[in-house]
Amino acid sequence: MQDLVKNVEQNGVVVAKLDDLFSWARLSSLWPMGFGLACCAIEFMDTLSGNFDMDRFGVFPRASPRQADVMIVAGTVTFKMAERIKRLYEQMPEPRYVISMGSCSNCGGPYWQYGYHVVKGVDRIIPVDVYIQGCPPRPESLIGAFIELQQKIKNESIINYQ
Ligand code: SF4
Repeated sequence: MQDLVKNVEQNGVVVAKLDDLFSWARLSSLWPMGFGLACCAIEFMDTLSGNFDMDRFGVFPRASPRQADVMIVAGTVTFKMAERIKRLYEQMPEPRYVISMGSCSNCGGPYWQYGYHVVKGVDRIIPVDVYIQGCPPRPESLIGAFIELQQKIKNESIINYQ
């Protein structure tokens, strides 16, 4: 990717694989769905505030799953919400990604032992691409997760996407 940028700067032309160009565009415009489940969602909202300037990554929250390609599961996943989360995930267009934000979403968090109402990890209902530890994780951790997701997308082939 750096070669690509250097080429543009030096020669004003780009000779690249279509996959690289698509990946470059996709990783520079990740649109998370704006929804939250519990206290971790406050940190998610804080991350999207002016202090952290997520616009520089091309991250804009969307109000509809139809327009989002990243789901951030921020908070406690109760059995009551699990079905809704799965439905929202299925309404997102492919390729779509999931960030599990915080202990509750990762494994049930403080409810892992006695929380009969809590799913012990959102990966039991939808696939997760990046996990963030913490209770709650700080905004910097979420920014780190986006960077990790960008690395993953960079190595994907959209042309041969299954
Ligand atoms: S991980 Fe901690 S901060 Fe996040 S939703 Fe669970 S209890 Fe709240």
